[in-house]
Amino acid sequence: VLNKNKDVIASAVTNLDLHDISRAAKTYGVKTFYMVTPLRDQMDLVARVVAHWTEGSGSVYNPKRRQALELIQVQETLDAVVHHIRNRSDNKKTPKTVVTSARQKAGNLSFAGFRKLLKTGNPYLLVFGTAWGLSDNIIAEADYVLAPLKGTTGYNHLSVRSAAAVIFDRLLGRLDDSNVT
Ligand code: SAM
Repeated sequence: VLNKNKDVIASAVTNLDLHDISRAAKTYGVKTFYMVTPLRDQMDLVARVVAHWTEGSGSVYNPKRRQALELIQVQETLDAVVHHIRNRSDNKKTPKTVVTSARQKAGNLSFAGFRKLLKTGNPYLLVFGTAWGLSDNIIAEADYVLAPLKGTTGYNHLSVRSAAAVIFDRLLGRLDDSNVT
């Protein structure tokens, strides 16, 4: 990801992201929430937090939280994630990567277009950034760049966990329910 000077960096993991994105993922049927960091101490930290809520006293205290945090897998690189998905026994296909960004780009994949792709049953890896967003090379190497969410003001600084929840709803939420019409 980028820092505010546009240098490529590895950011620190935010505990809130683990909890909120895994709950949203569980709600909308996302299969796995891969937390990618090349930093060994951050990988260990995520593993400890996940173990606390899935195996430790936290799993007994709050089983609903366990169900969400169980979706988290820590990987060192995006390539390792692709490899992991390709080798899943329920899949055996290479996922297409879809990156997210707050910036509009030419050729953006629309939400409607992505909903159609998801109906094929093929695997898709939806990639979110932290800090100042995904680096240019991650975006350039992706199969698709998803259209950005647009608010109604000039303020364009959603947290990654808010963006993830809104995007999951747009892609996977039930649009035919009475709560939409
Ligand atoms: N300026 C960064 C960018 O252009 O993506 C914003 C980084 S934001 C703090 C962290 C992540 O949240 C982004 O990398 C993206 O995954 C997601 N995000 C934030 N705002 C978004 C938006 N309007 N549309 C889509 N994704 C967004």
